[in-house]
Amino acid sequence: MAGSTQPASAGAAAKAPQQKVHIADTTMTISNWWKHVDWLNVTLIIGIPIYGLVQSYWVPLQLYTAIWAVLYYYMTGIGITAGYHRLWAHCSFSATLPLKIYLAAVGGGAVEGSIRWWARGHRSHHRYTDTDKDPYSVRKGLLYSHIGWMVMKQNPKRIGRADITDLNEDPVVVWQHRNYLKVVAFMGLIFPMLVAGFGWGDWFGGFIYAGILRIAFVQQATFCVNSLAHWLGDQPFDDRNSPRDHVITALITMGEGYHNFHHEFPSDYRNAIQWFQYDPTKWIIWTWKQLGLAYDLKQFRHNEIEKGRVQQLQKKIDQRRAKLDWGIPLDQLPVMEWDDYVDQAKNGRGLMAIAGVVHDVTDFIKDHPGGKAMINAGIGKDATAMFNGGVYNHSNAAHNLLSTMRVGVIRGGCEVEIWKRAQRENKDVELFRDENGQRIIRAGNQVTKVPEAISTAGAA
Ligand SMILES: [Zn+2]
Ligand SMILES: [Zn+2]
Repeated sequence: MAGSTQPASAGAAAKAPQQKVHIADTTMTISNWWKHVDWLNVTLIIGIPIYGLVQSYWVPLQLYTAIWAVLYYYMTGIGITAGYHRLWAHCSFSATLPLKIYLAAVGGGAVEGSIRWWARGHRSHHRYTDTDKDPYSVRKGLLYSHIGWMVMKQNPKRIGRADITDLNEDPVVVWQHRNYLKVVAFMGLIFPMLVAGFGWGDWFGGFIYAGILRIAFVQQATFCVNSLAHWLGDQPFDDRNSPRDHVITALITMGEGYHNFHHEFPSDYRNAIQWFQYDPTKWIIWTWKQLGLAYDLKQFRHNEIEKGRVQQLQKKIDQRRAKLDWGIPLDQLPVMEWDDYVDQAKNGRGLMAIAGVVHDVTDFIKDHPGGKAMINAGIGKDATAMFNGGVYNHSNAAHNLLSTMRVGVIRGGCEVEIWKRAQRENKDVELFRDENGQRIIRAGNQVTKVPEAISTAGAA
């Protein structure tokens, strides 16, 4: 009886214990939501900052403590941007041992996890940007990418794989990972308190302002790299994924705001490439190099960067071009016999053949800038020469406008033959099309434009 009602669970219990389903893979309900929450992280990134805010109501902020808190904010922030991010996650430069120890210490003081954990997630983020394997995919929402991914439990098995063998071989990284809680307690809270306490006697102020509240600000600032930098700004290098460039994000994140560039050239020690762009992390890495503390600063060649920029511009131009009316593509126009063309024109249809292409200008006659008489003179004739200088050498804009009026091609018309031949030989055709297969018409290159001046004798 029991076996028939619960066969599955009975069978599972009898055999070896099955793998437990991770809480993150179950649906959230009113009764189990608290199991989905990562309470340790909630305490570290929400609870403690709230405690600090409440305390700040009673603890007066002294000037020296304020200066120290801001200074230590930058020190620990640089620990993340230059250390955790550019040095360890991306190996964009090499550091001497003293610099590594310094960065591992102040980076730990930002309370964002160990280098090993942080860099592993970040490498997955770069490898699987915007997918389910991206640990902080912005596709799951701005708030999720900012803080939700830490506040809610994640199944670590679902995060994309990333190779961290180099980090496992780095003694500074391994030591920091093993002693992480001690590092956090000392560099996050005790050290800033000691400085303010021994320095000017403000022990509790140092704890609250240079410790707790400074941690909260550094955390929120660097979280913006995962949220704001994937949401606000331009995409000058590639727009297939979410990373974006914006000066506001750069100002908040110590230069990590040129994130579109960064995702394209992740091992470049710079995030901003123009001298006037705000990237203090880059400036400080460069300074360390001058001091002999950093070396092997990696940089992509200008040529490679420009190629990315040009290709993205090209893509934008293709998109703009695709929105415009360029006339019916030549290969989709019906083929007309010359006599049929002449007959239709005689019967009152405003048809005009130019370079083998037939245009219906009926509605345009009254608007023709050169007057009705001039345009009427070409109807029913081969107006190629008249249009191209015989009577008036029409502008590029005129050729463009004319192309929107085309309705057919004359059998044996020269351009059509050229197009057919090119297609037969299967060469050069691609050169005239964008990546969506749209034909590219450059200025002065309309079919109706005849490159050499034509004598008027024949047409007149
Ligand atoms: Zn990113
Ligand atoms: Zn990165």
